[in-house]
Amino acid sequence: MITKKLSNLTAIIDKQRDFFQTGQTKNVDFRLTQLKTLKQAILENKPAIVQALQADLSKPEFETYISEISVTKEIDAAIKNLKNWSKPQKAAVSWDFFSYSARVHPEPLGVVLIIGPWNYPFQLIISPLIGAIAAGNCTIIKPSEIAPHTSSLLAEIIGKYFDPAYIAVVEGGAEISQQLLAEKFDHIFFTGGTAVGKIVMAAAAKHLTPVTLELGGKSPCIVDTEINLEYTARRITWGKFLNAGQTCIAPDYLLVNQKIKPDLIKSIKKCLTEFYGNNPANSPDYSRIISQNHFERLNKLLKDGEIITGGETDQSTRYIAPTVIDHVSLTDPIMQEEIFGPILPVIEYTDITEAIALINSRPKPLALYLFTQNKNLQKQVLQETSSGGVCINDTIMQVGVSSLPFGGVGESGIGSYHGKASFDTFSHRKSVLKNSFWLDLKWRYAPYKDKLSTIKRMMGI
Ligand code: NAD
Repeated sequence: MITKKLSNLTAIIDKQRDFFQTGQTKNVDFRLTQLKTLKQAILENKPAIVQALQADLSKPEFETYISEISVTKEIDAAIKNLKNWSKPQKAAVSWDFFSYSARVHPEPLGVVLIIGPWNYPFQLIISPLIGAIAAGNCTIIKPSEIAPHTSSLLAEIIGKYFDPAYIAVVEGGAEISQQLLAEKFDHIFFTGGTAVGKIVMAAAAKHLTPVTLELGGKSPCIVDTEINLEYTARRITWGKFLNAGQTCIAPDYLLVNQKIKPDLIKSIKKCLTEFYGNNPANSPDYSRIISQNHFERLNKLLKDGEIITGGETDQSTRYIAPTVIDHVSLTDPIMQEEIFGPILPVIEYTDITEAIALINSRPKPLALYLFTQNKNLQKQVLQETSSGGVCINDTIMQVGVSSLPFGGVGESGIGSYHGKASFDTFSHRKSVLKNSFWLDLKWRYAPYKDKLSTIKRMMGI
């Protein structure tokens, strides 16, 4: 265990390059040991993780367990599957390549950079780190400065359990992030907003560094009439107000069939009381807004439309009540920017084509939610819209299924991760073709005279 003070960024990266060159990380047993160490590090620091999340976001312990510490399940899956994932995979060859064999060898990329956001500040660093370790890379981590308690805890934990020549945490804000981005990495994995995503990609382009961009956007939630109203309301209320709405895949706004809108709103209001009591400010199960800046940003959004429930705020504790807003205009700021807070605008439609047209007129979302039992409608929405992922008749839960690659499309992101997709993201798939010496047909060698007609026949053209 090495807890060296990290000073110079270039020196840290150079150290990691040297360590990578030793080839130790290519050994699958080494990677398995590191994954086990990571799990142990998390398990041994559970109370500190809960405390840091409480300090940064007033995150209830229950939510910290299900959305941050639960990342250990991903470690278990990586440990279980790593030998299989890292094996060279046989590739098919056509009959005319009969003397050859083809394989795809996954190999580590080298030294990678992971930049994290503040909303799930622990999980969104550790989850990509699992992929980076599994694939055999050295990693520099830059957590979000906006969640300072979690950032310093990550630095402490990683510093205690890992050699900085292998995994190192660099703390700081945009300036440090940009200093890191000026360096050459073999991959950059960024989670954050679309605006910063563009800065990251521009910086990466200078070194031709590949990027994974896990971004955000406005994720719509369509609600049709063919539903179980009680379950629908509960699942939407949970997904929207978990972490006080500061979830990249939270339903951003509702698109509700006008026939069911009054009933749905009534049910959501009922769920809010069930979940958080008559005054959510007193509920131990409701988070706070991360910073004064975000509080002020959200406060302005409360001016749009007509508040049906909620709307109360307390600047001193950065509290914003779970709020549902009706009668918003599509040109209101609340319908222009990602909300990323506990405010739920409700827009009604009379025909599903209107909802689909609205979604398609905007940047492709990270998540799309659809509540309906109507199979034809499910098919239509899947076919006629594009989004990073889709979850039917629930919210958020898609993130927990590690066989489903998680990522955006268009402005909501580039690339994906979770499970095998994480391993692939941090690996190069090296194609290896092998010939043998038992035969050497001369059809491809000059002189070509008399061979053209044969080759044309063989090619069937
Ligand atoms: P952000 O883009 O402001 O910051 C993310 C990271 O970038 C932080 O570590 C920050 O220090 C760094 N950064 C900030 N400004 C920078 C700059 N100018 N140059 C270089 N680096 C800079 O995002 P955030 O506010 O932390 O997170 C919220 C956003 O992240 C939302 O849009 C949300 O949807 C998105 N998000 C996406 C996912 C996902 O999995 N797709 C998950 C969580 C959050």
